[in-house]
Amino acid sequence: MTIKSKKIGIMGGTFNPVHMGHLLLAECAREQAKLDQILFIPSGYSYMKEDQNVLSGAERLKLVSLSIADNPYFSLSDMELTRDGYTYTYETLELLCKDNPDAAYFFITGADSLLSLDRWKFPERILSNCSLVTAVRGDTELQEVKVAAERLEKKYGAHILLLDMPRTDISSTDIRARLASGRSIRYMVPEPVAQYIYEKQLFIR
Ligand code: ATP
Ligand code: MG
Repeated sequence: MTIKSKKIGIMGGTFNPVHMGHLLLAECAREQAKLDQILFIPSGYSYMKEDQNVLSGAERLKLVSLSIADNPYFSLSDMELTRDGYTYTYETLELLCKDNPDAAYFFITGADSLLSLDRWKFPERILSNCSLVTAVRGDTELQEVKVAAERLEKKYGAHILLLDMPRTDISSTDIRARLASGRSIRYMVPEPVAQYIYEKQLFIR
């Protein structure tokens, strides 16, 4: 077995907008999977979110960069935003592994993503290039996540670490709804993110 020199977490998402749930998830993953670095990768155009009011890639990138500025372990990549057309996680992972064969990759997700992984493009190519680090979220029961994890382990030989993380119901969907109806999002996103959103009136109309 080759010893990988660096453990890198991949925090993928639409980040429309980034919020404390994402940051807490990344921090729990860093600590519990002993990751050296977490790379936030805002997704490009997603066929799963065509019907939503998605900010431009540049705006989502800006918000993520504001949210991680004070954390030396967190960094940001625009690799999915600069790729044309739909972007798929399997491609991102294959590109990363090719560029950096010495690193071991850990894809960080909430339970909803783990439960839907079978419907992603080429799950076997995702799971052969990374381990998963997953936290329970929303209404999903821990037992349901454990069953799904076992099934993915059997079917694809996946390596899955379930995180111990305080459950938070924060979601981008809820933040967009709050902004659209004039309610506060303070303390649900980092202060600089809230400031930028209010200043640019994002999601307000
Ligand atoms: P939306 O409501 O628009 O789908 P979201 O809050 O789910 O937004 P995404 O960008 O879709 O955010 O999520 C990126 C990743 O972060 C996913 O793997 C998702 O499961 C995870 N995630 C988001 N919010 C939480 C949370 N509160 N707790 C745990 N995981 C989360
Ligand atoms: Mg989501």
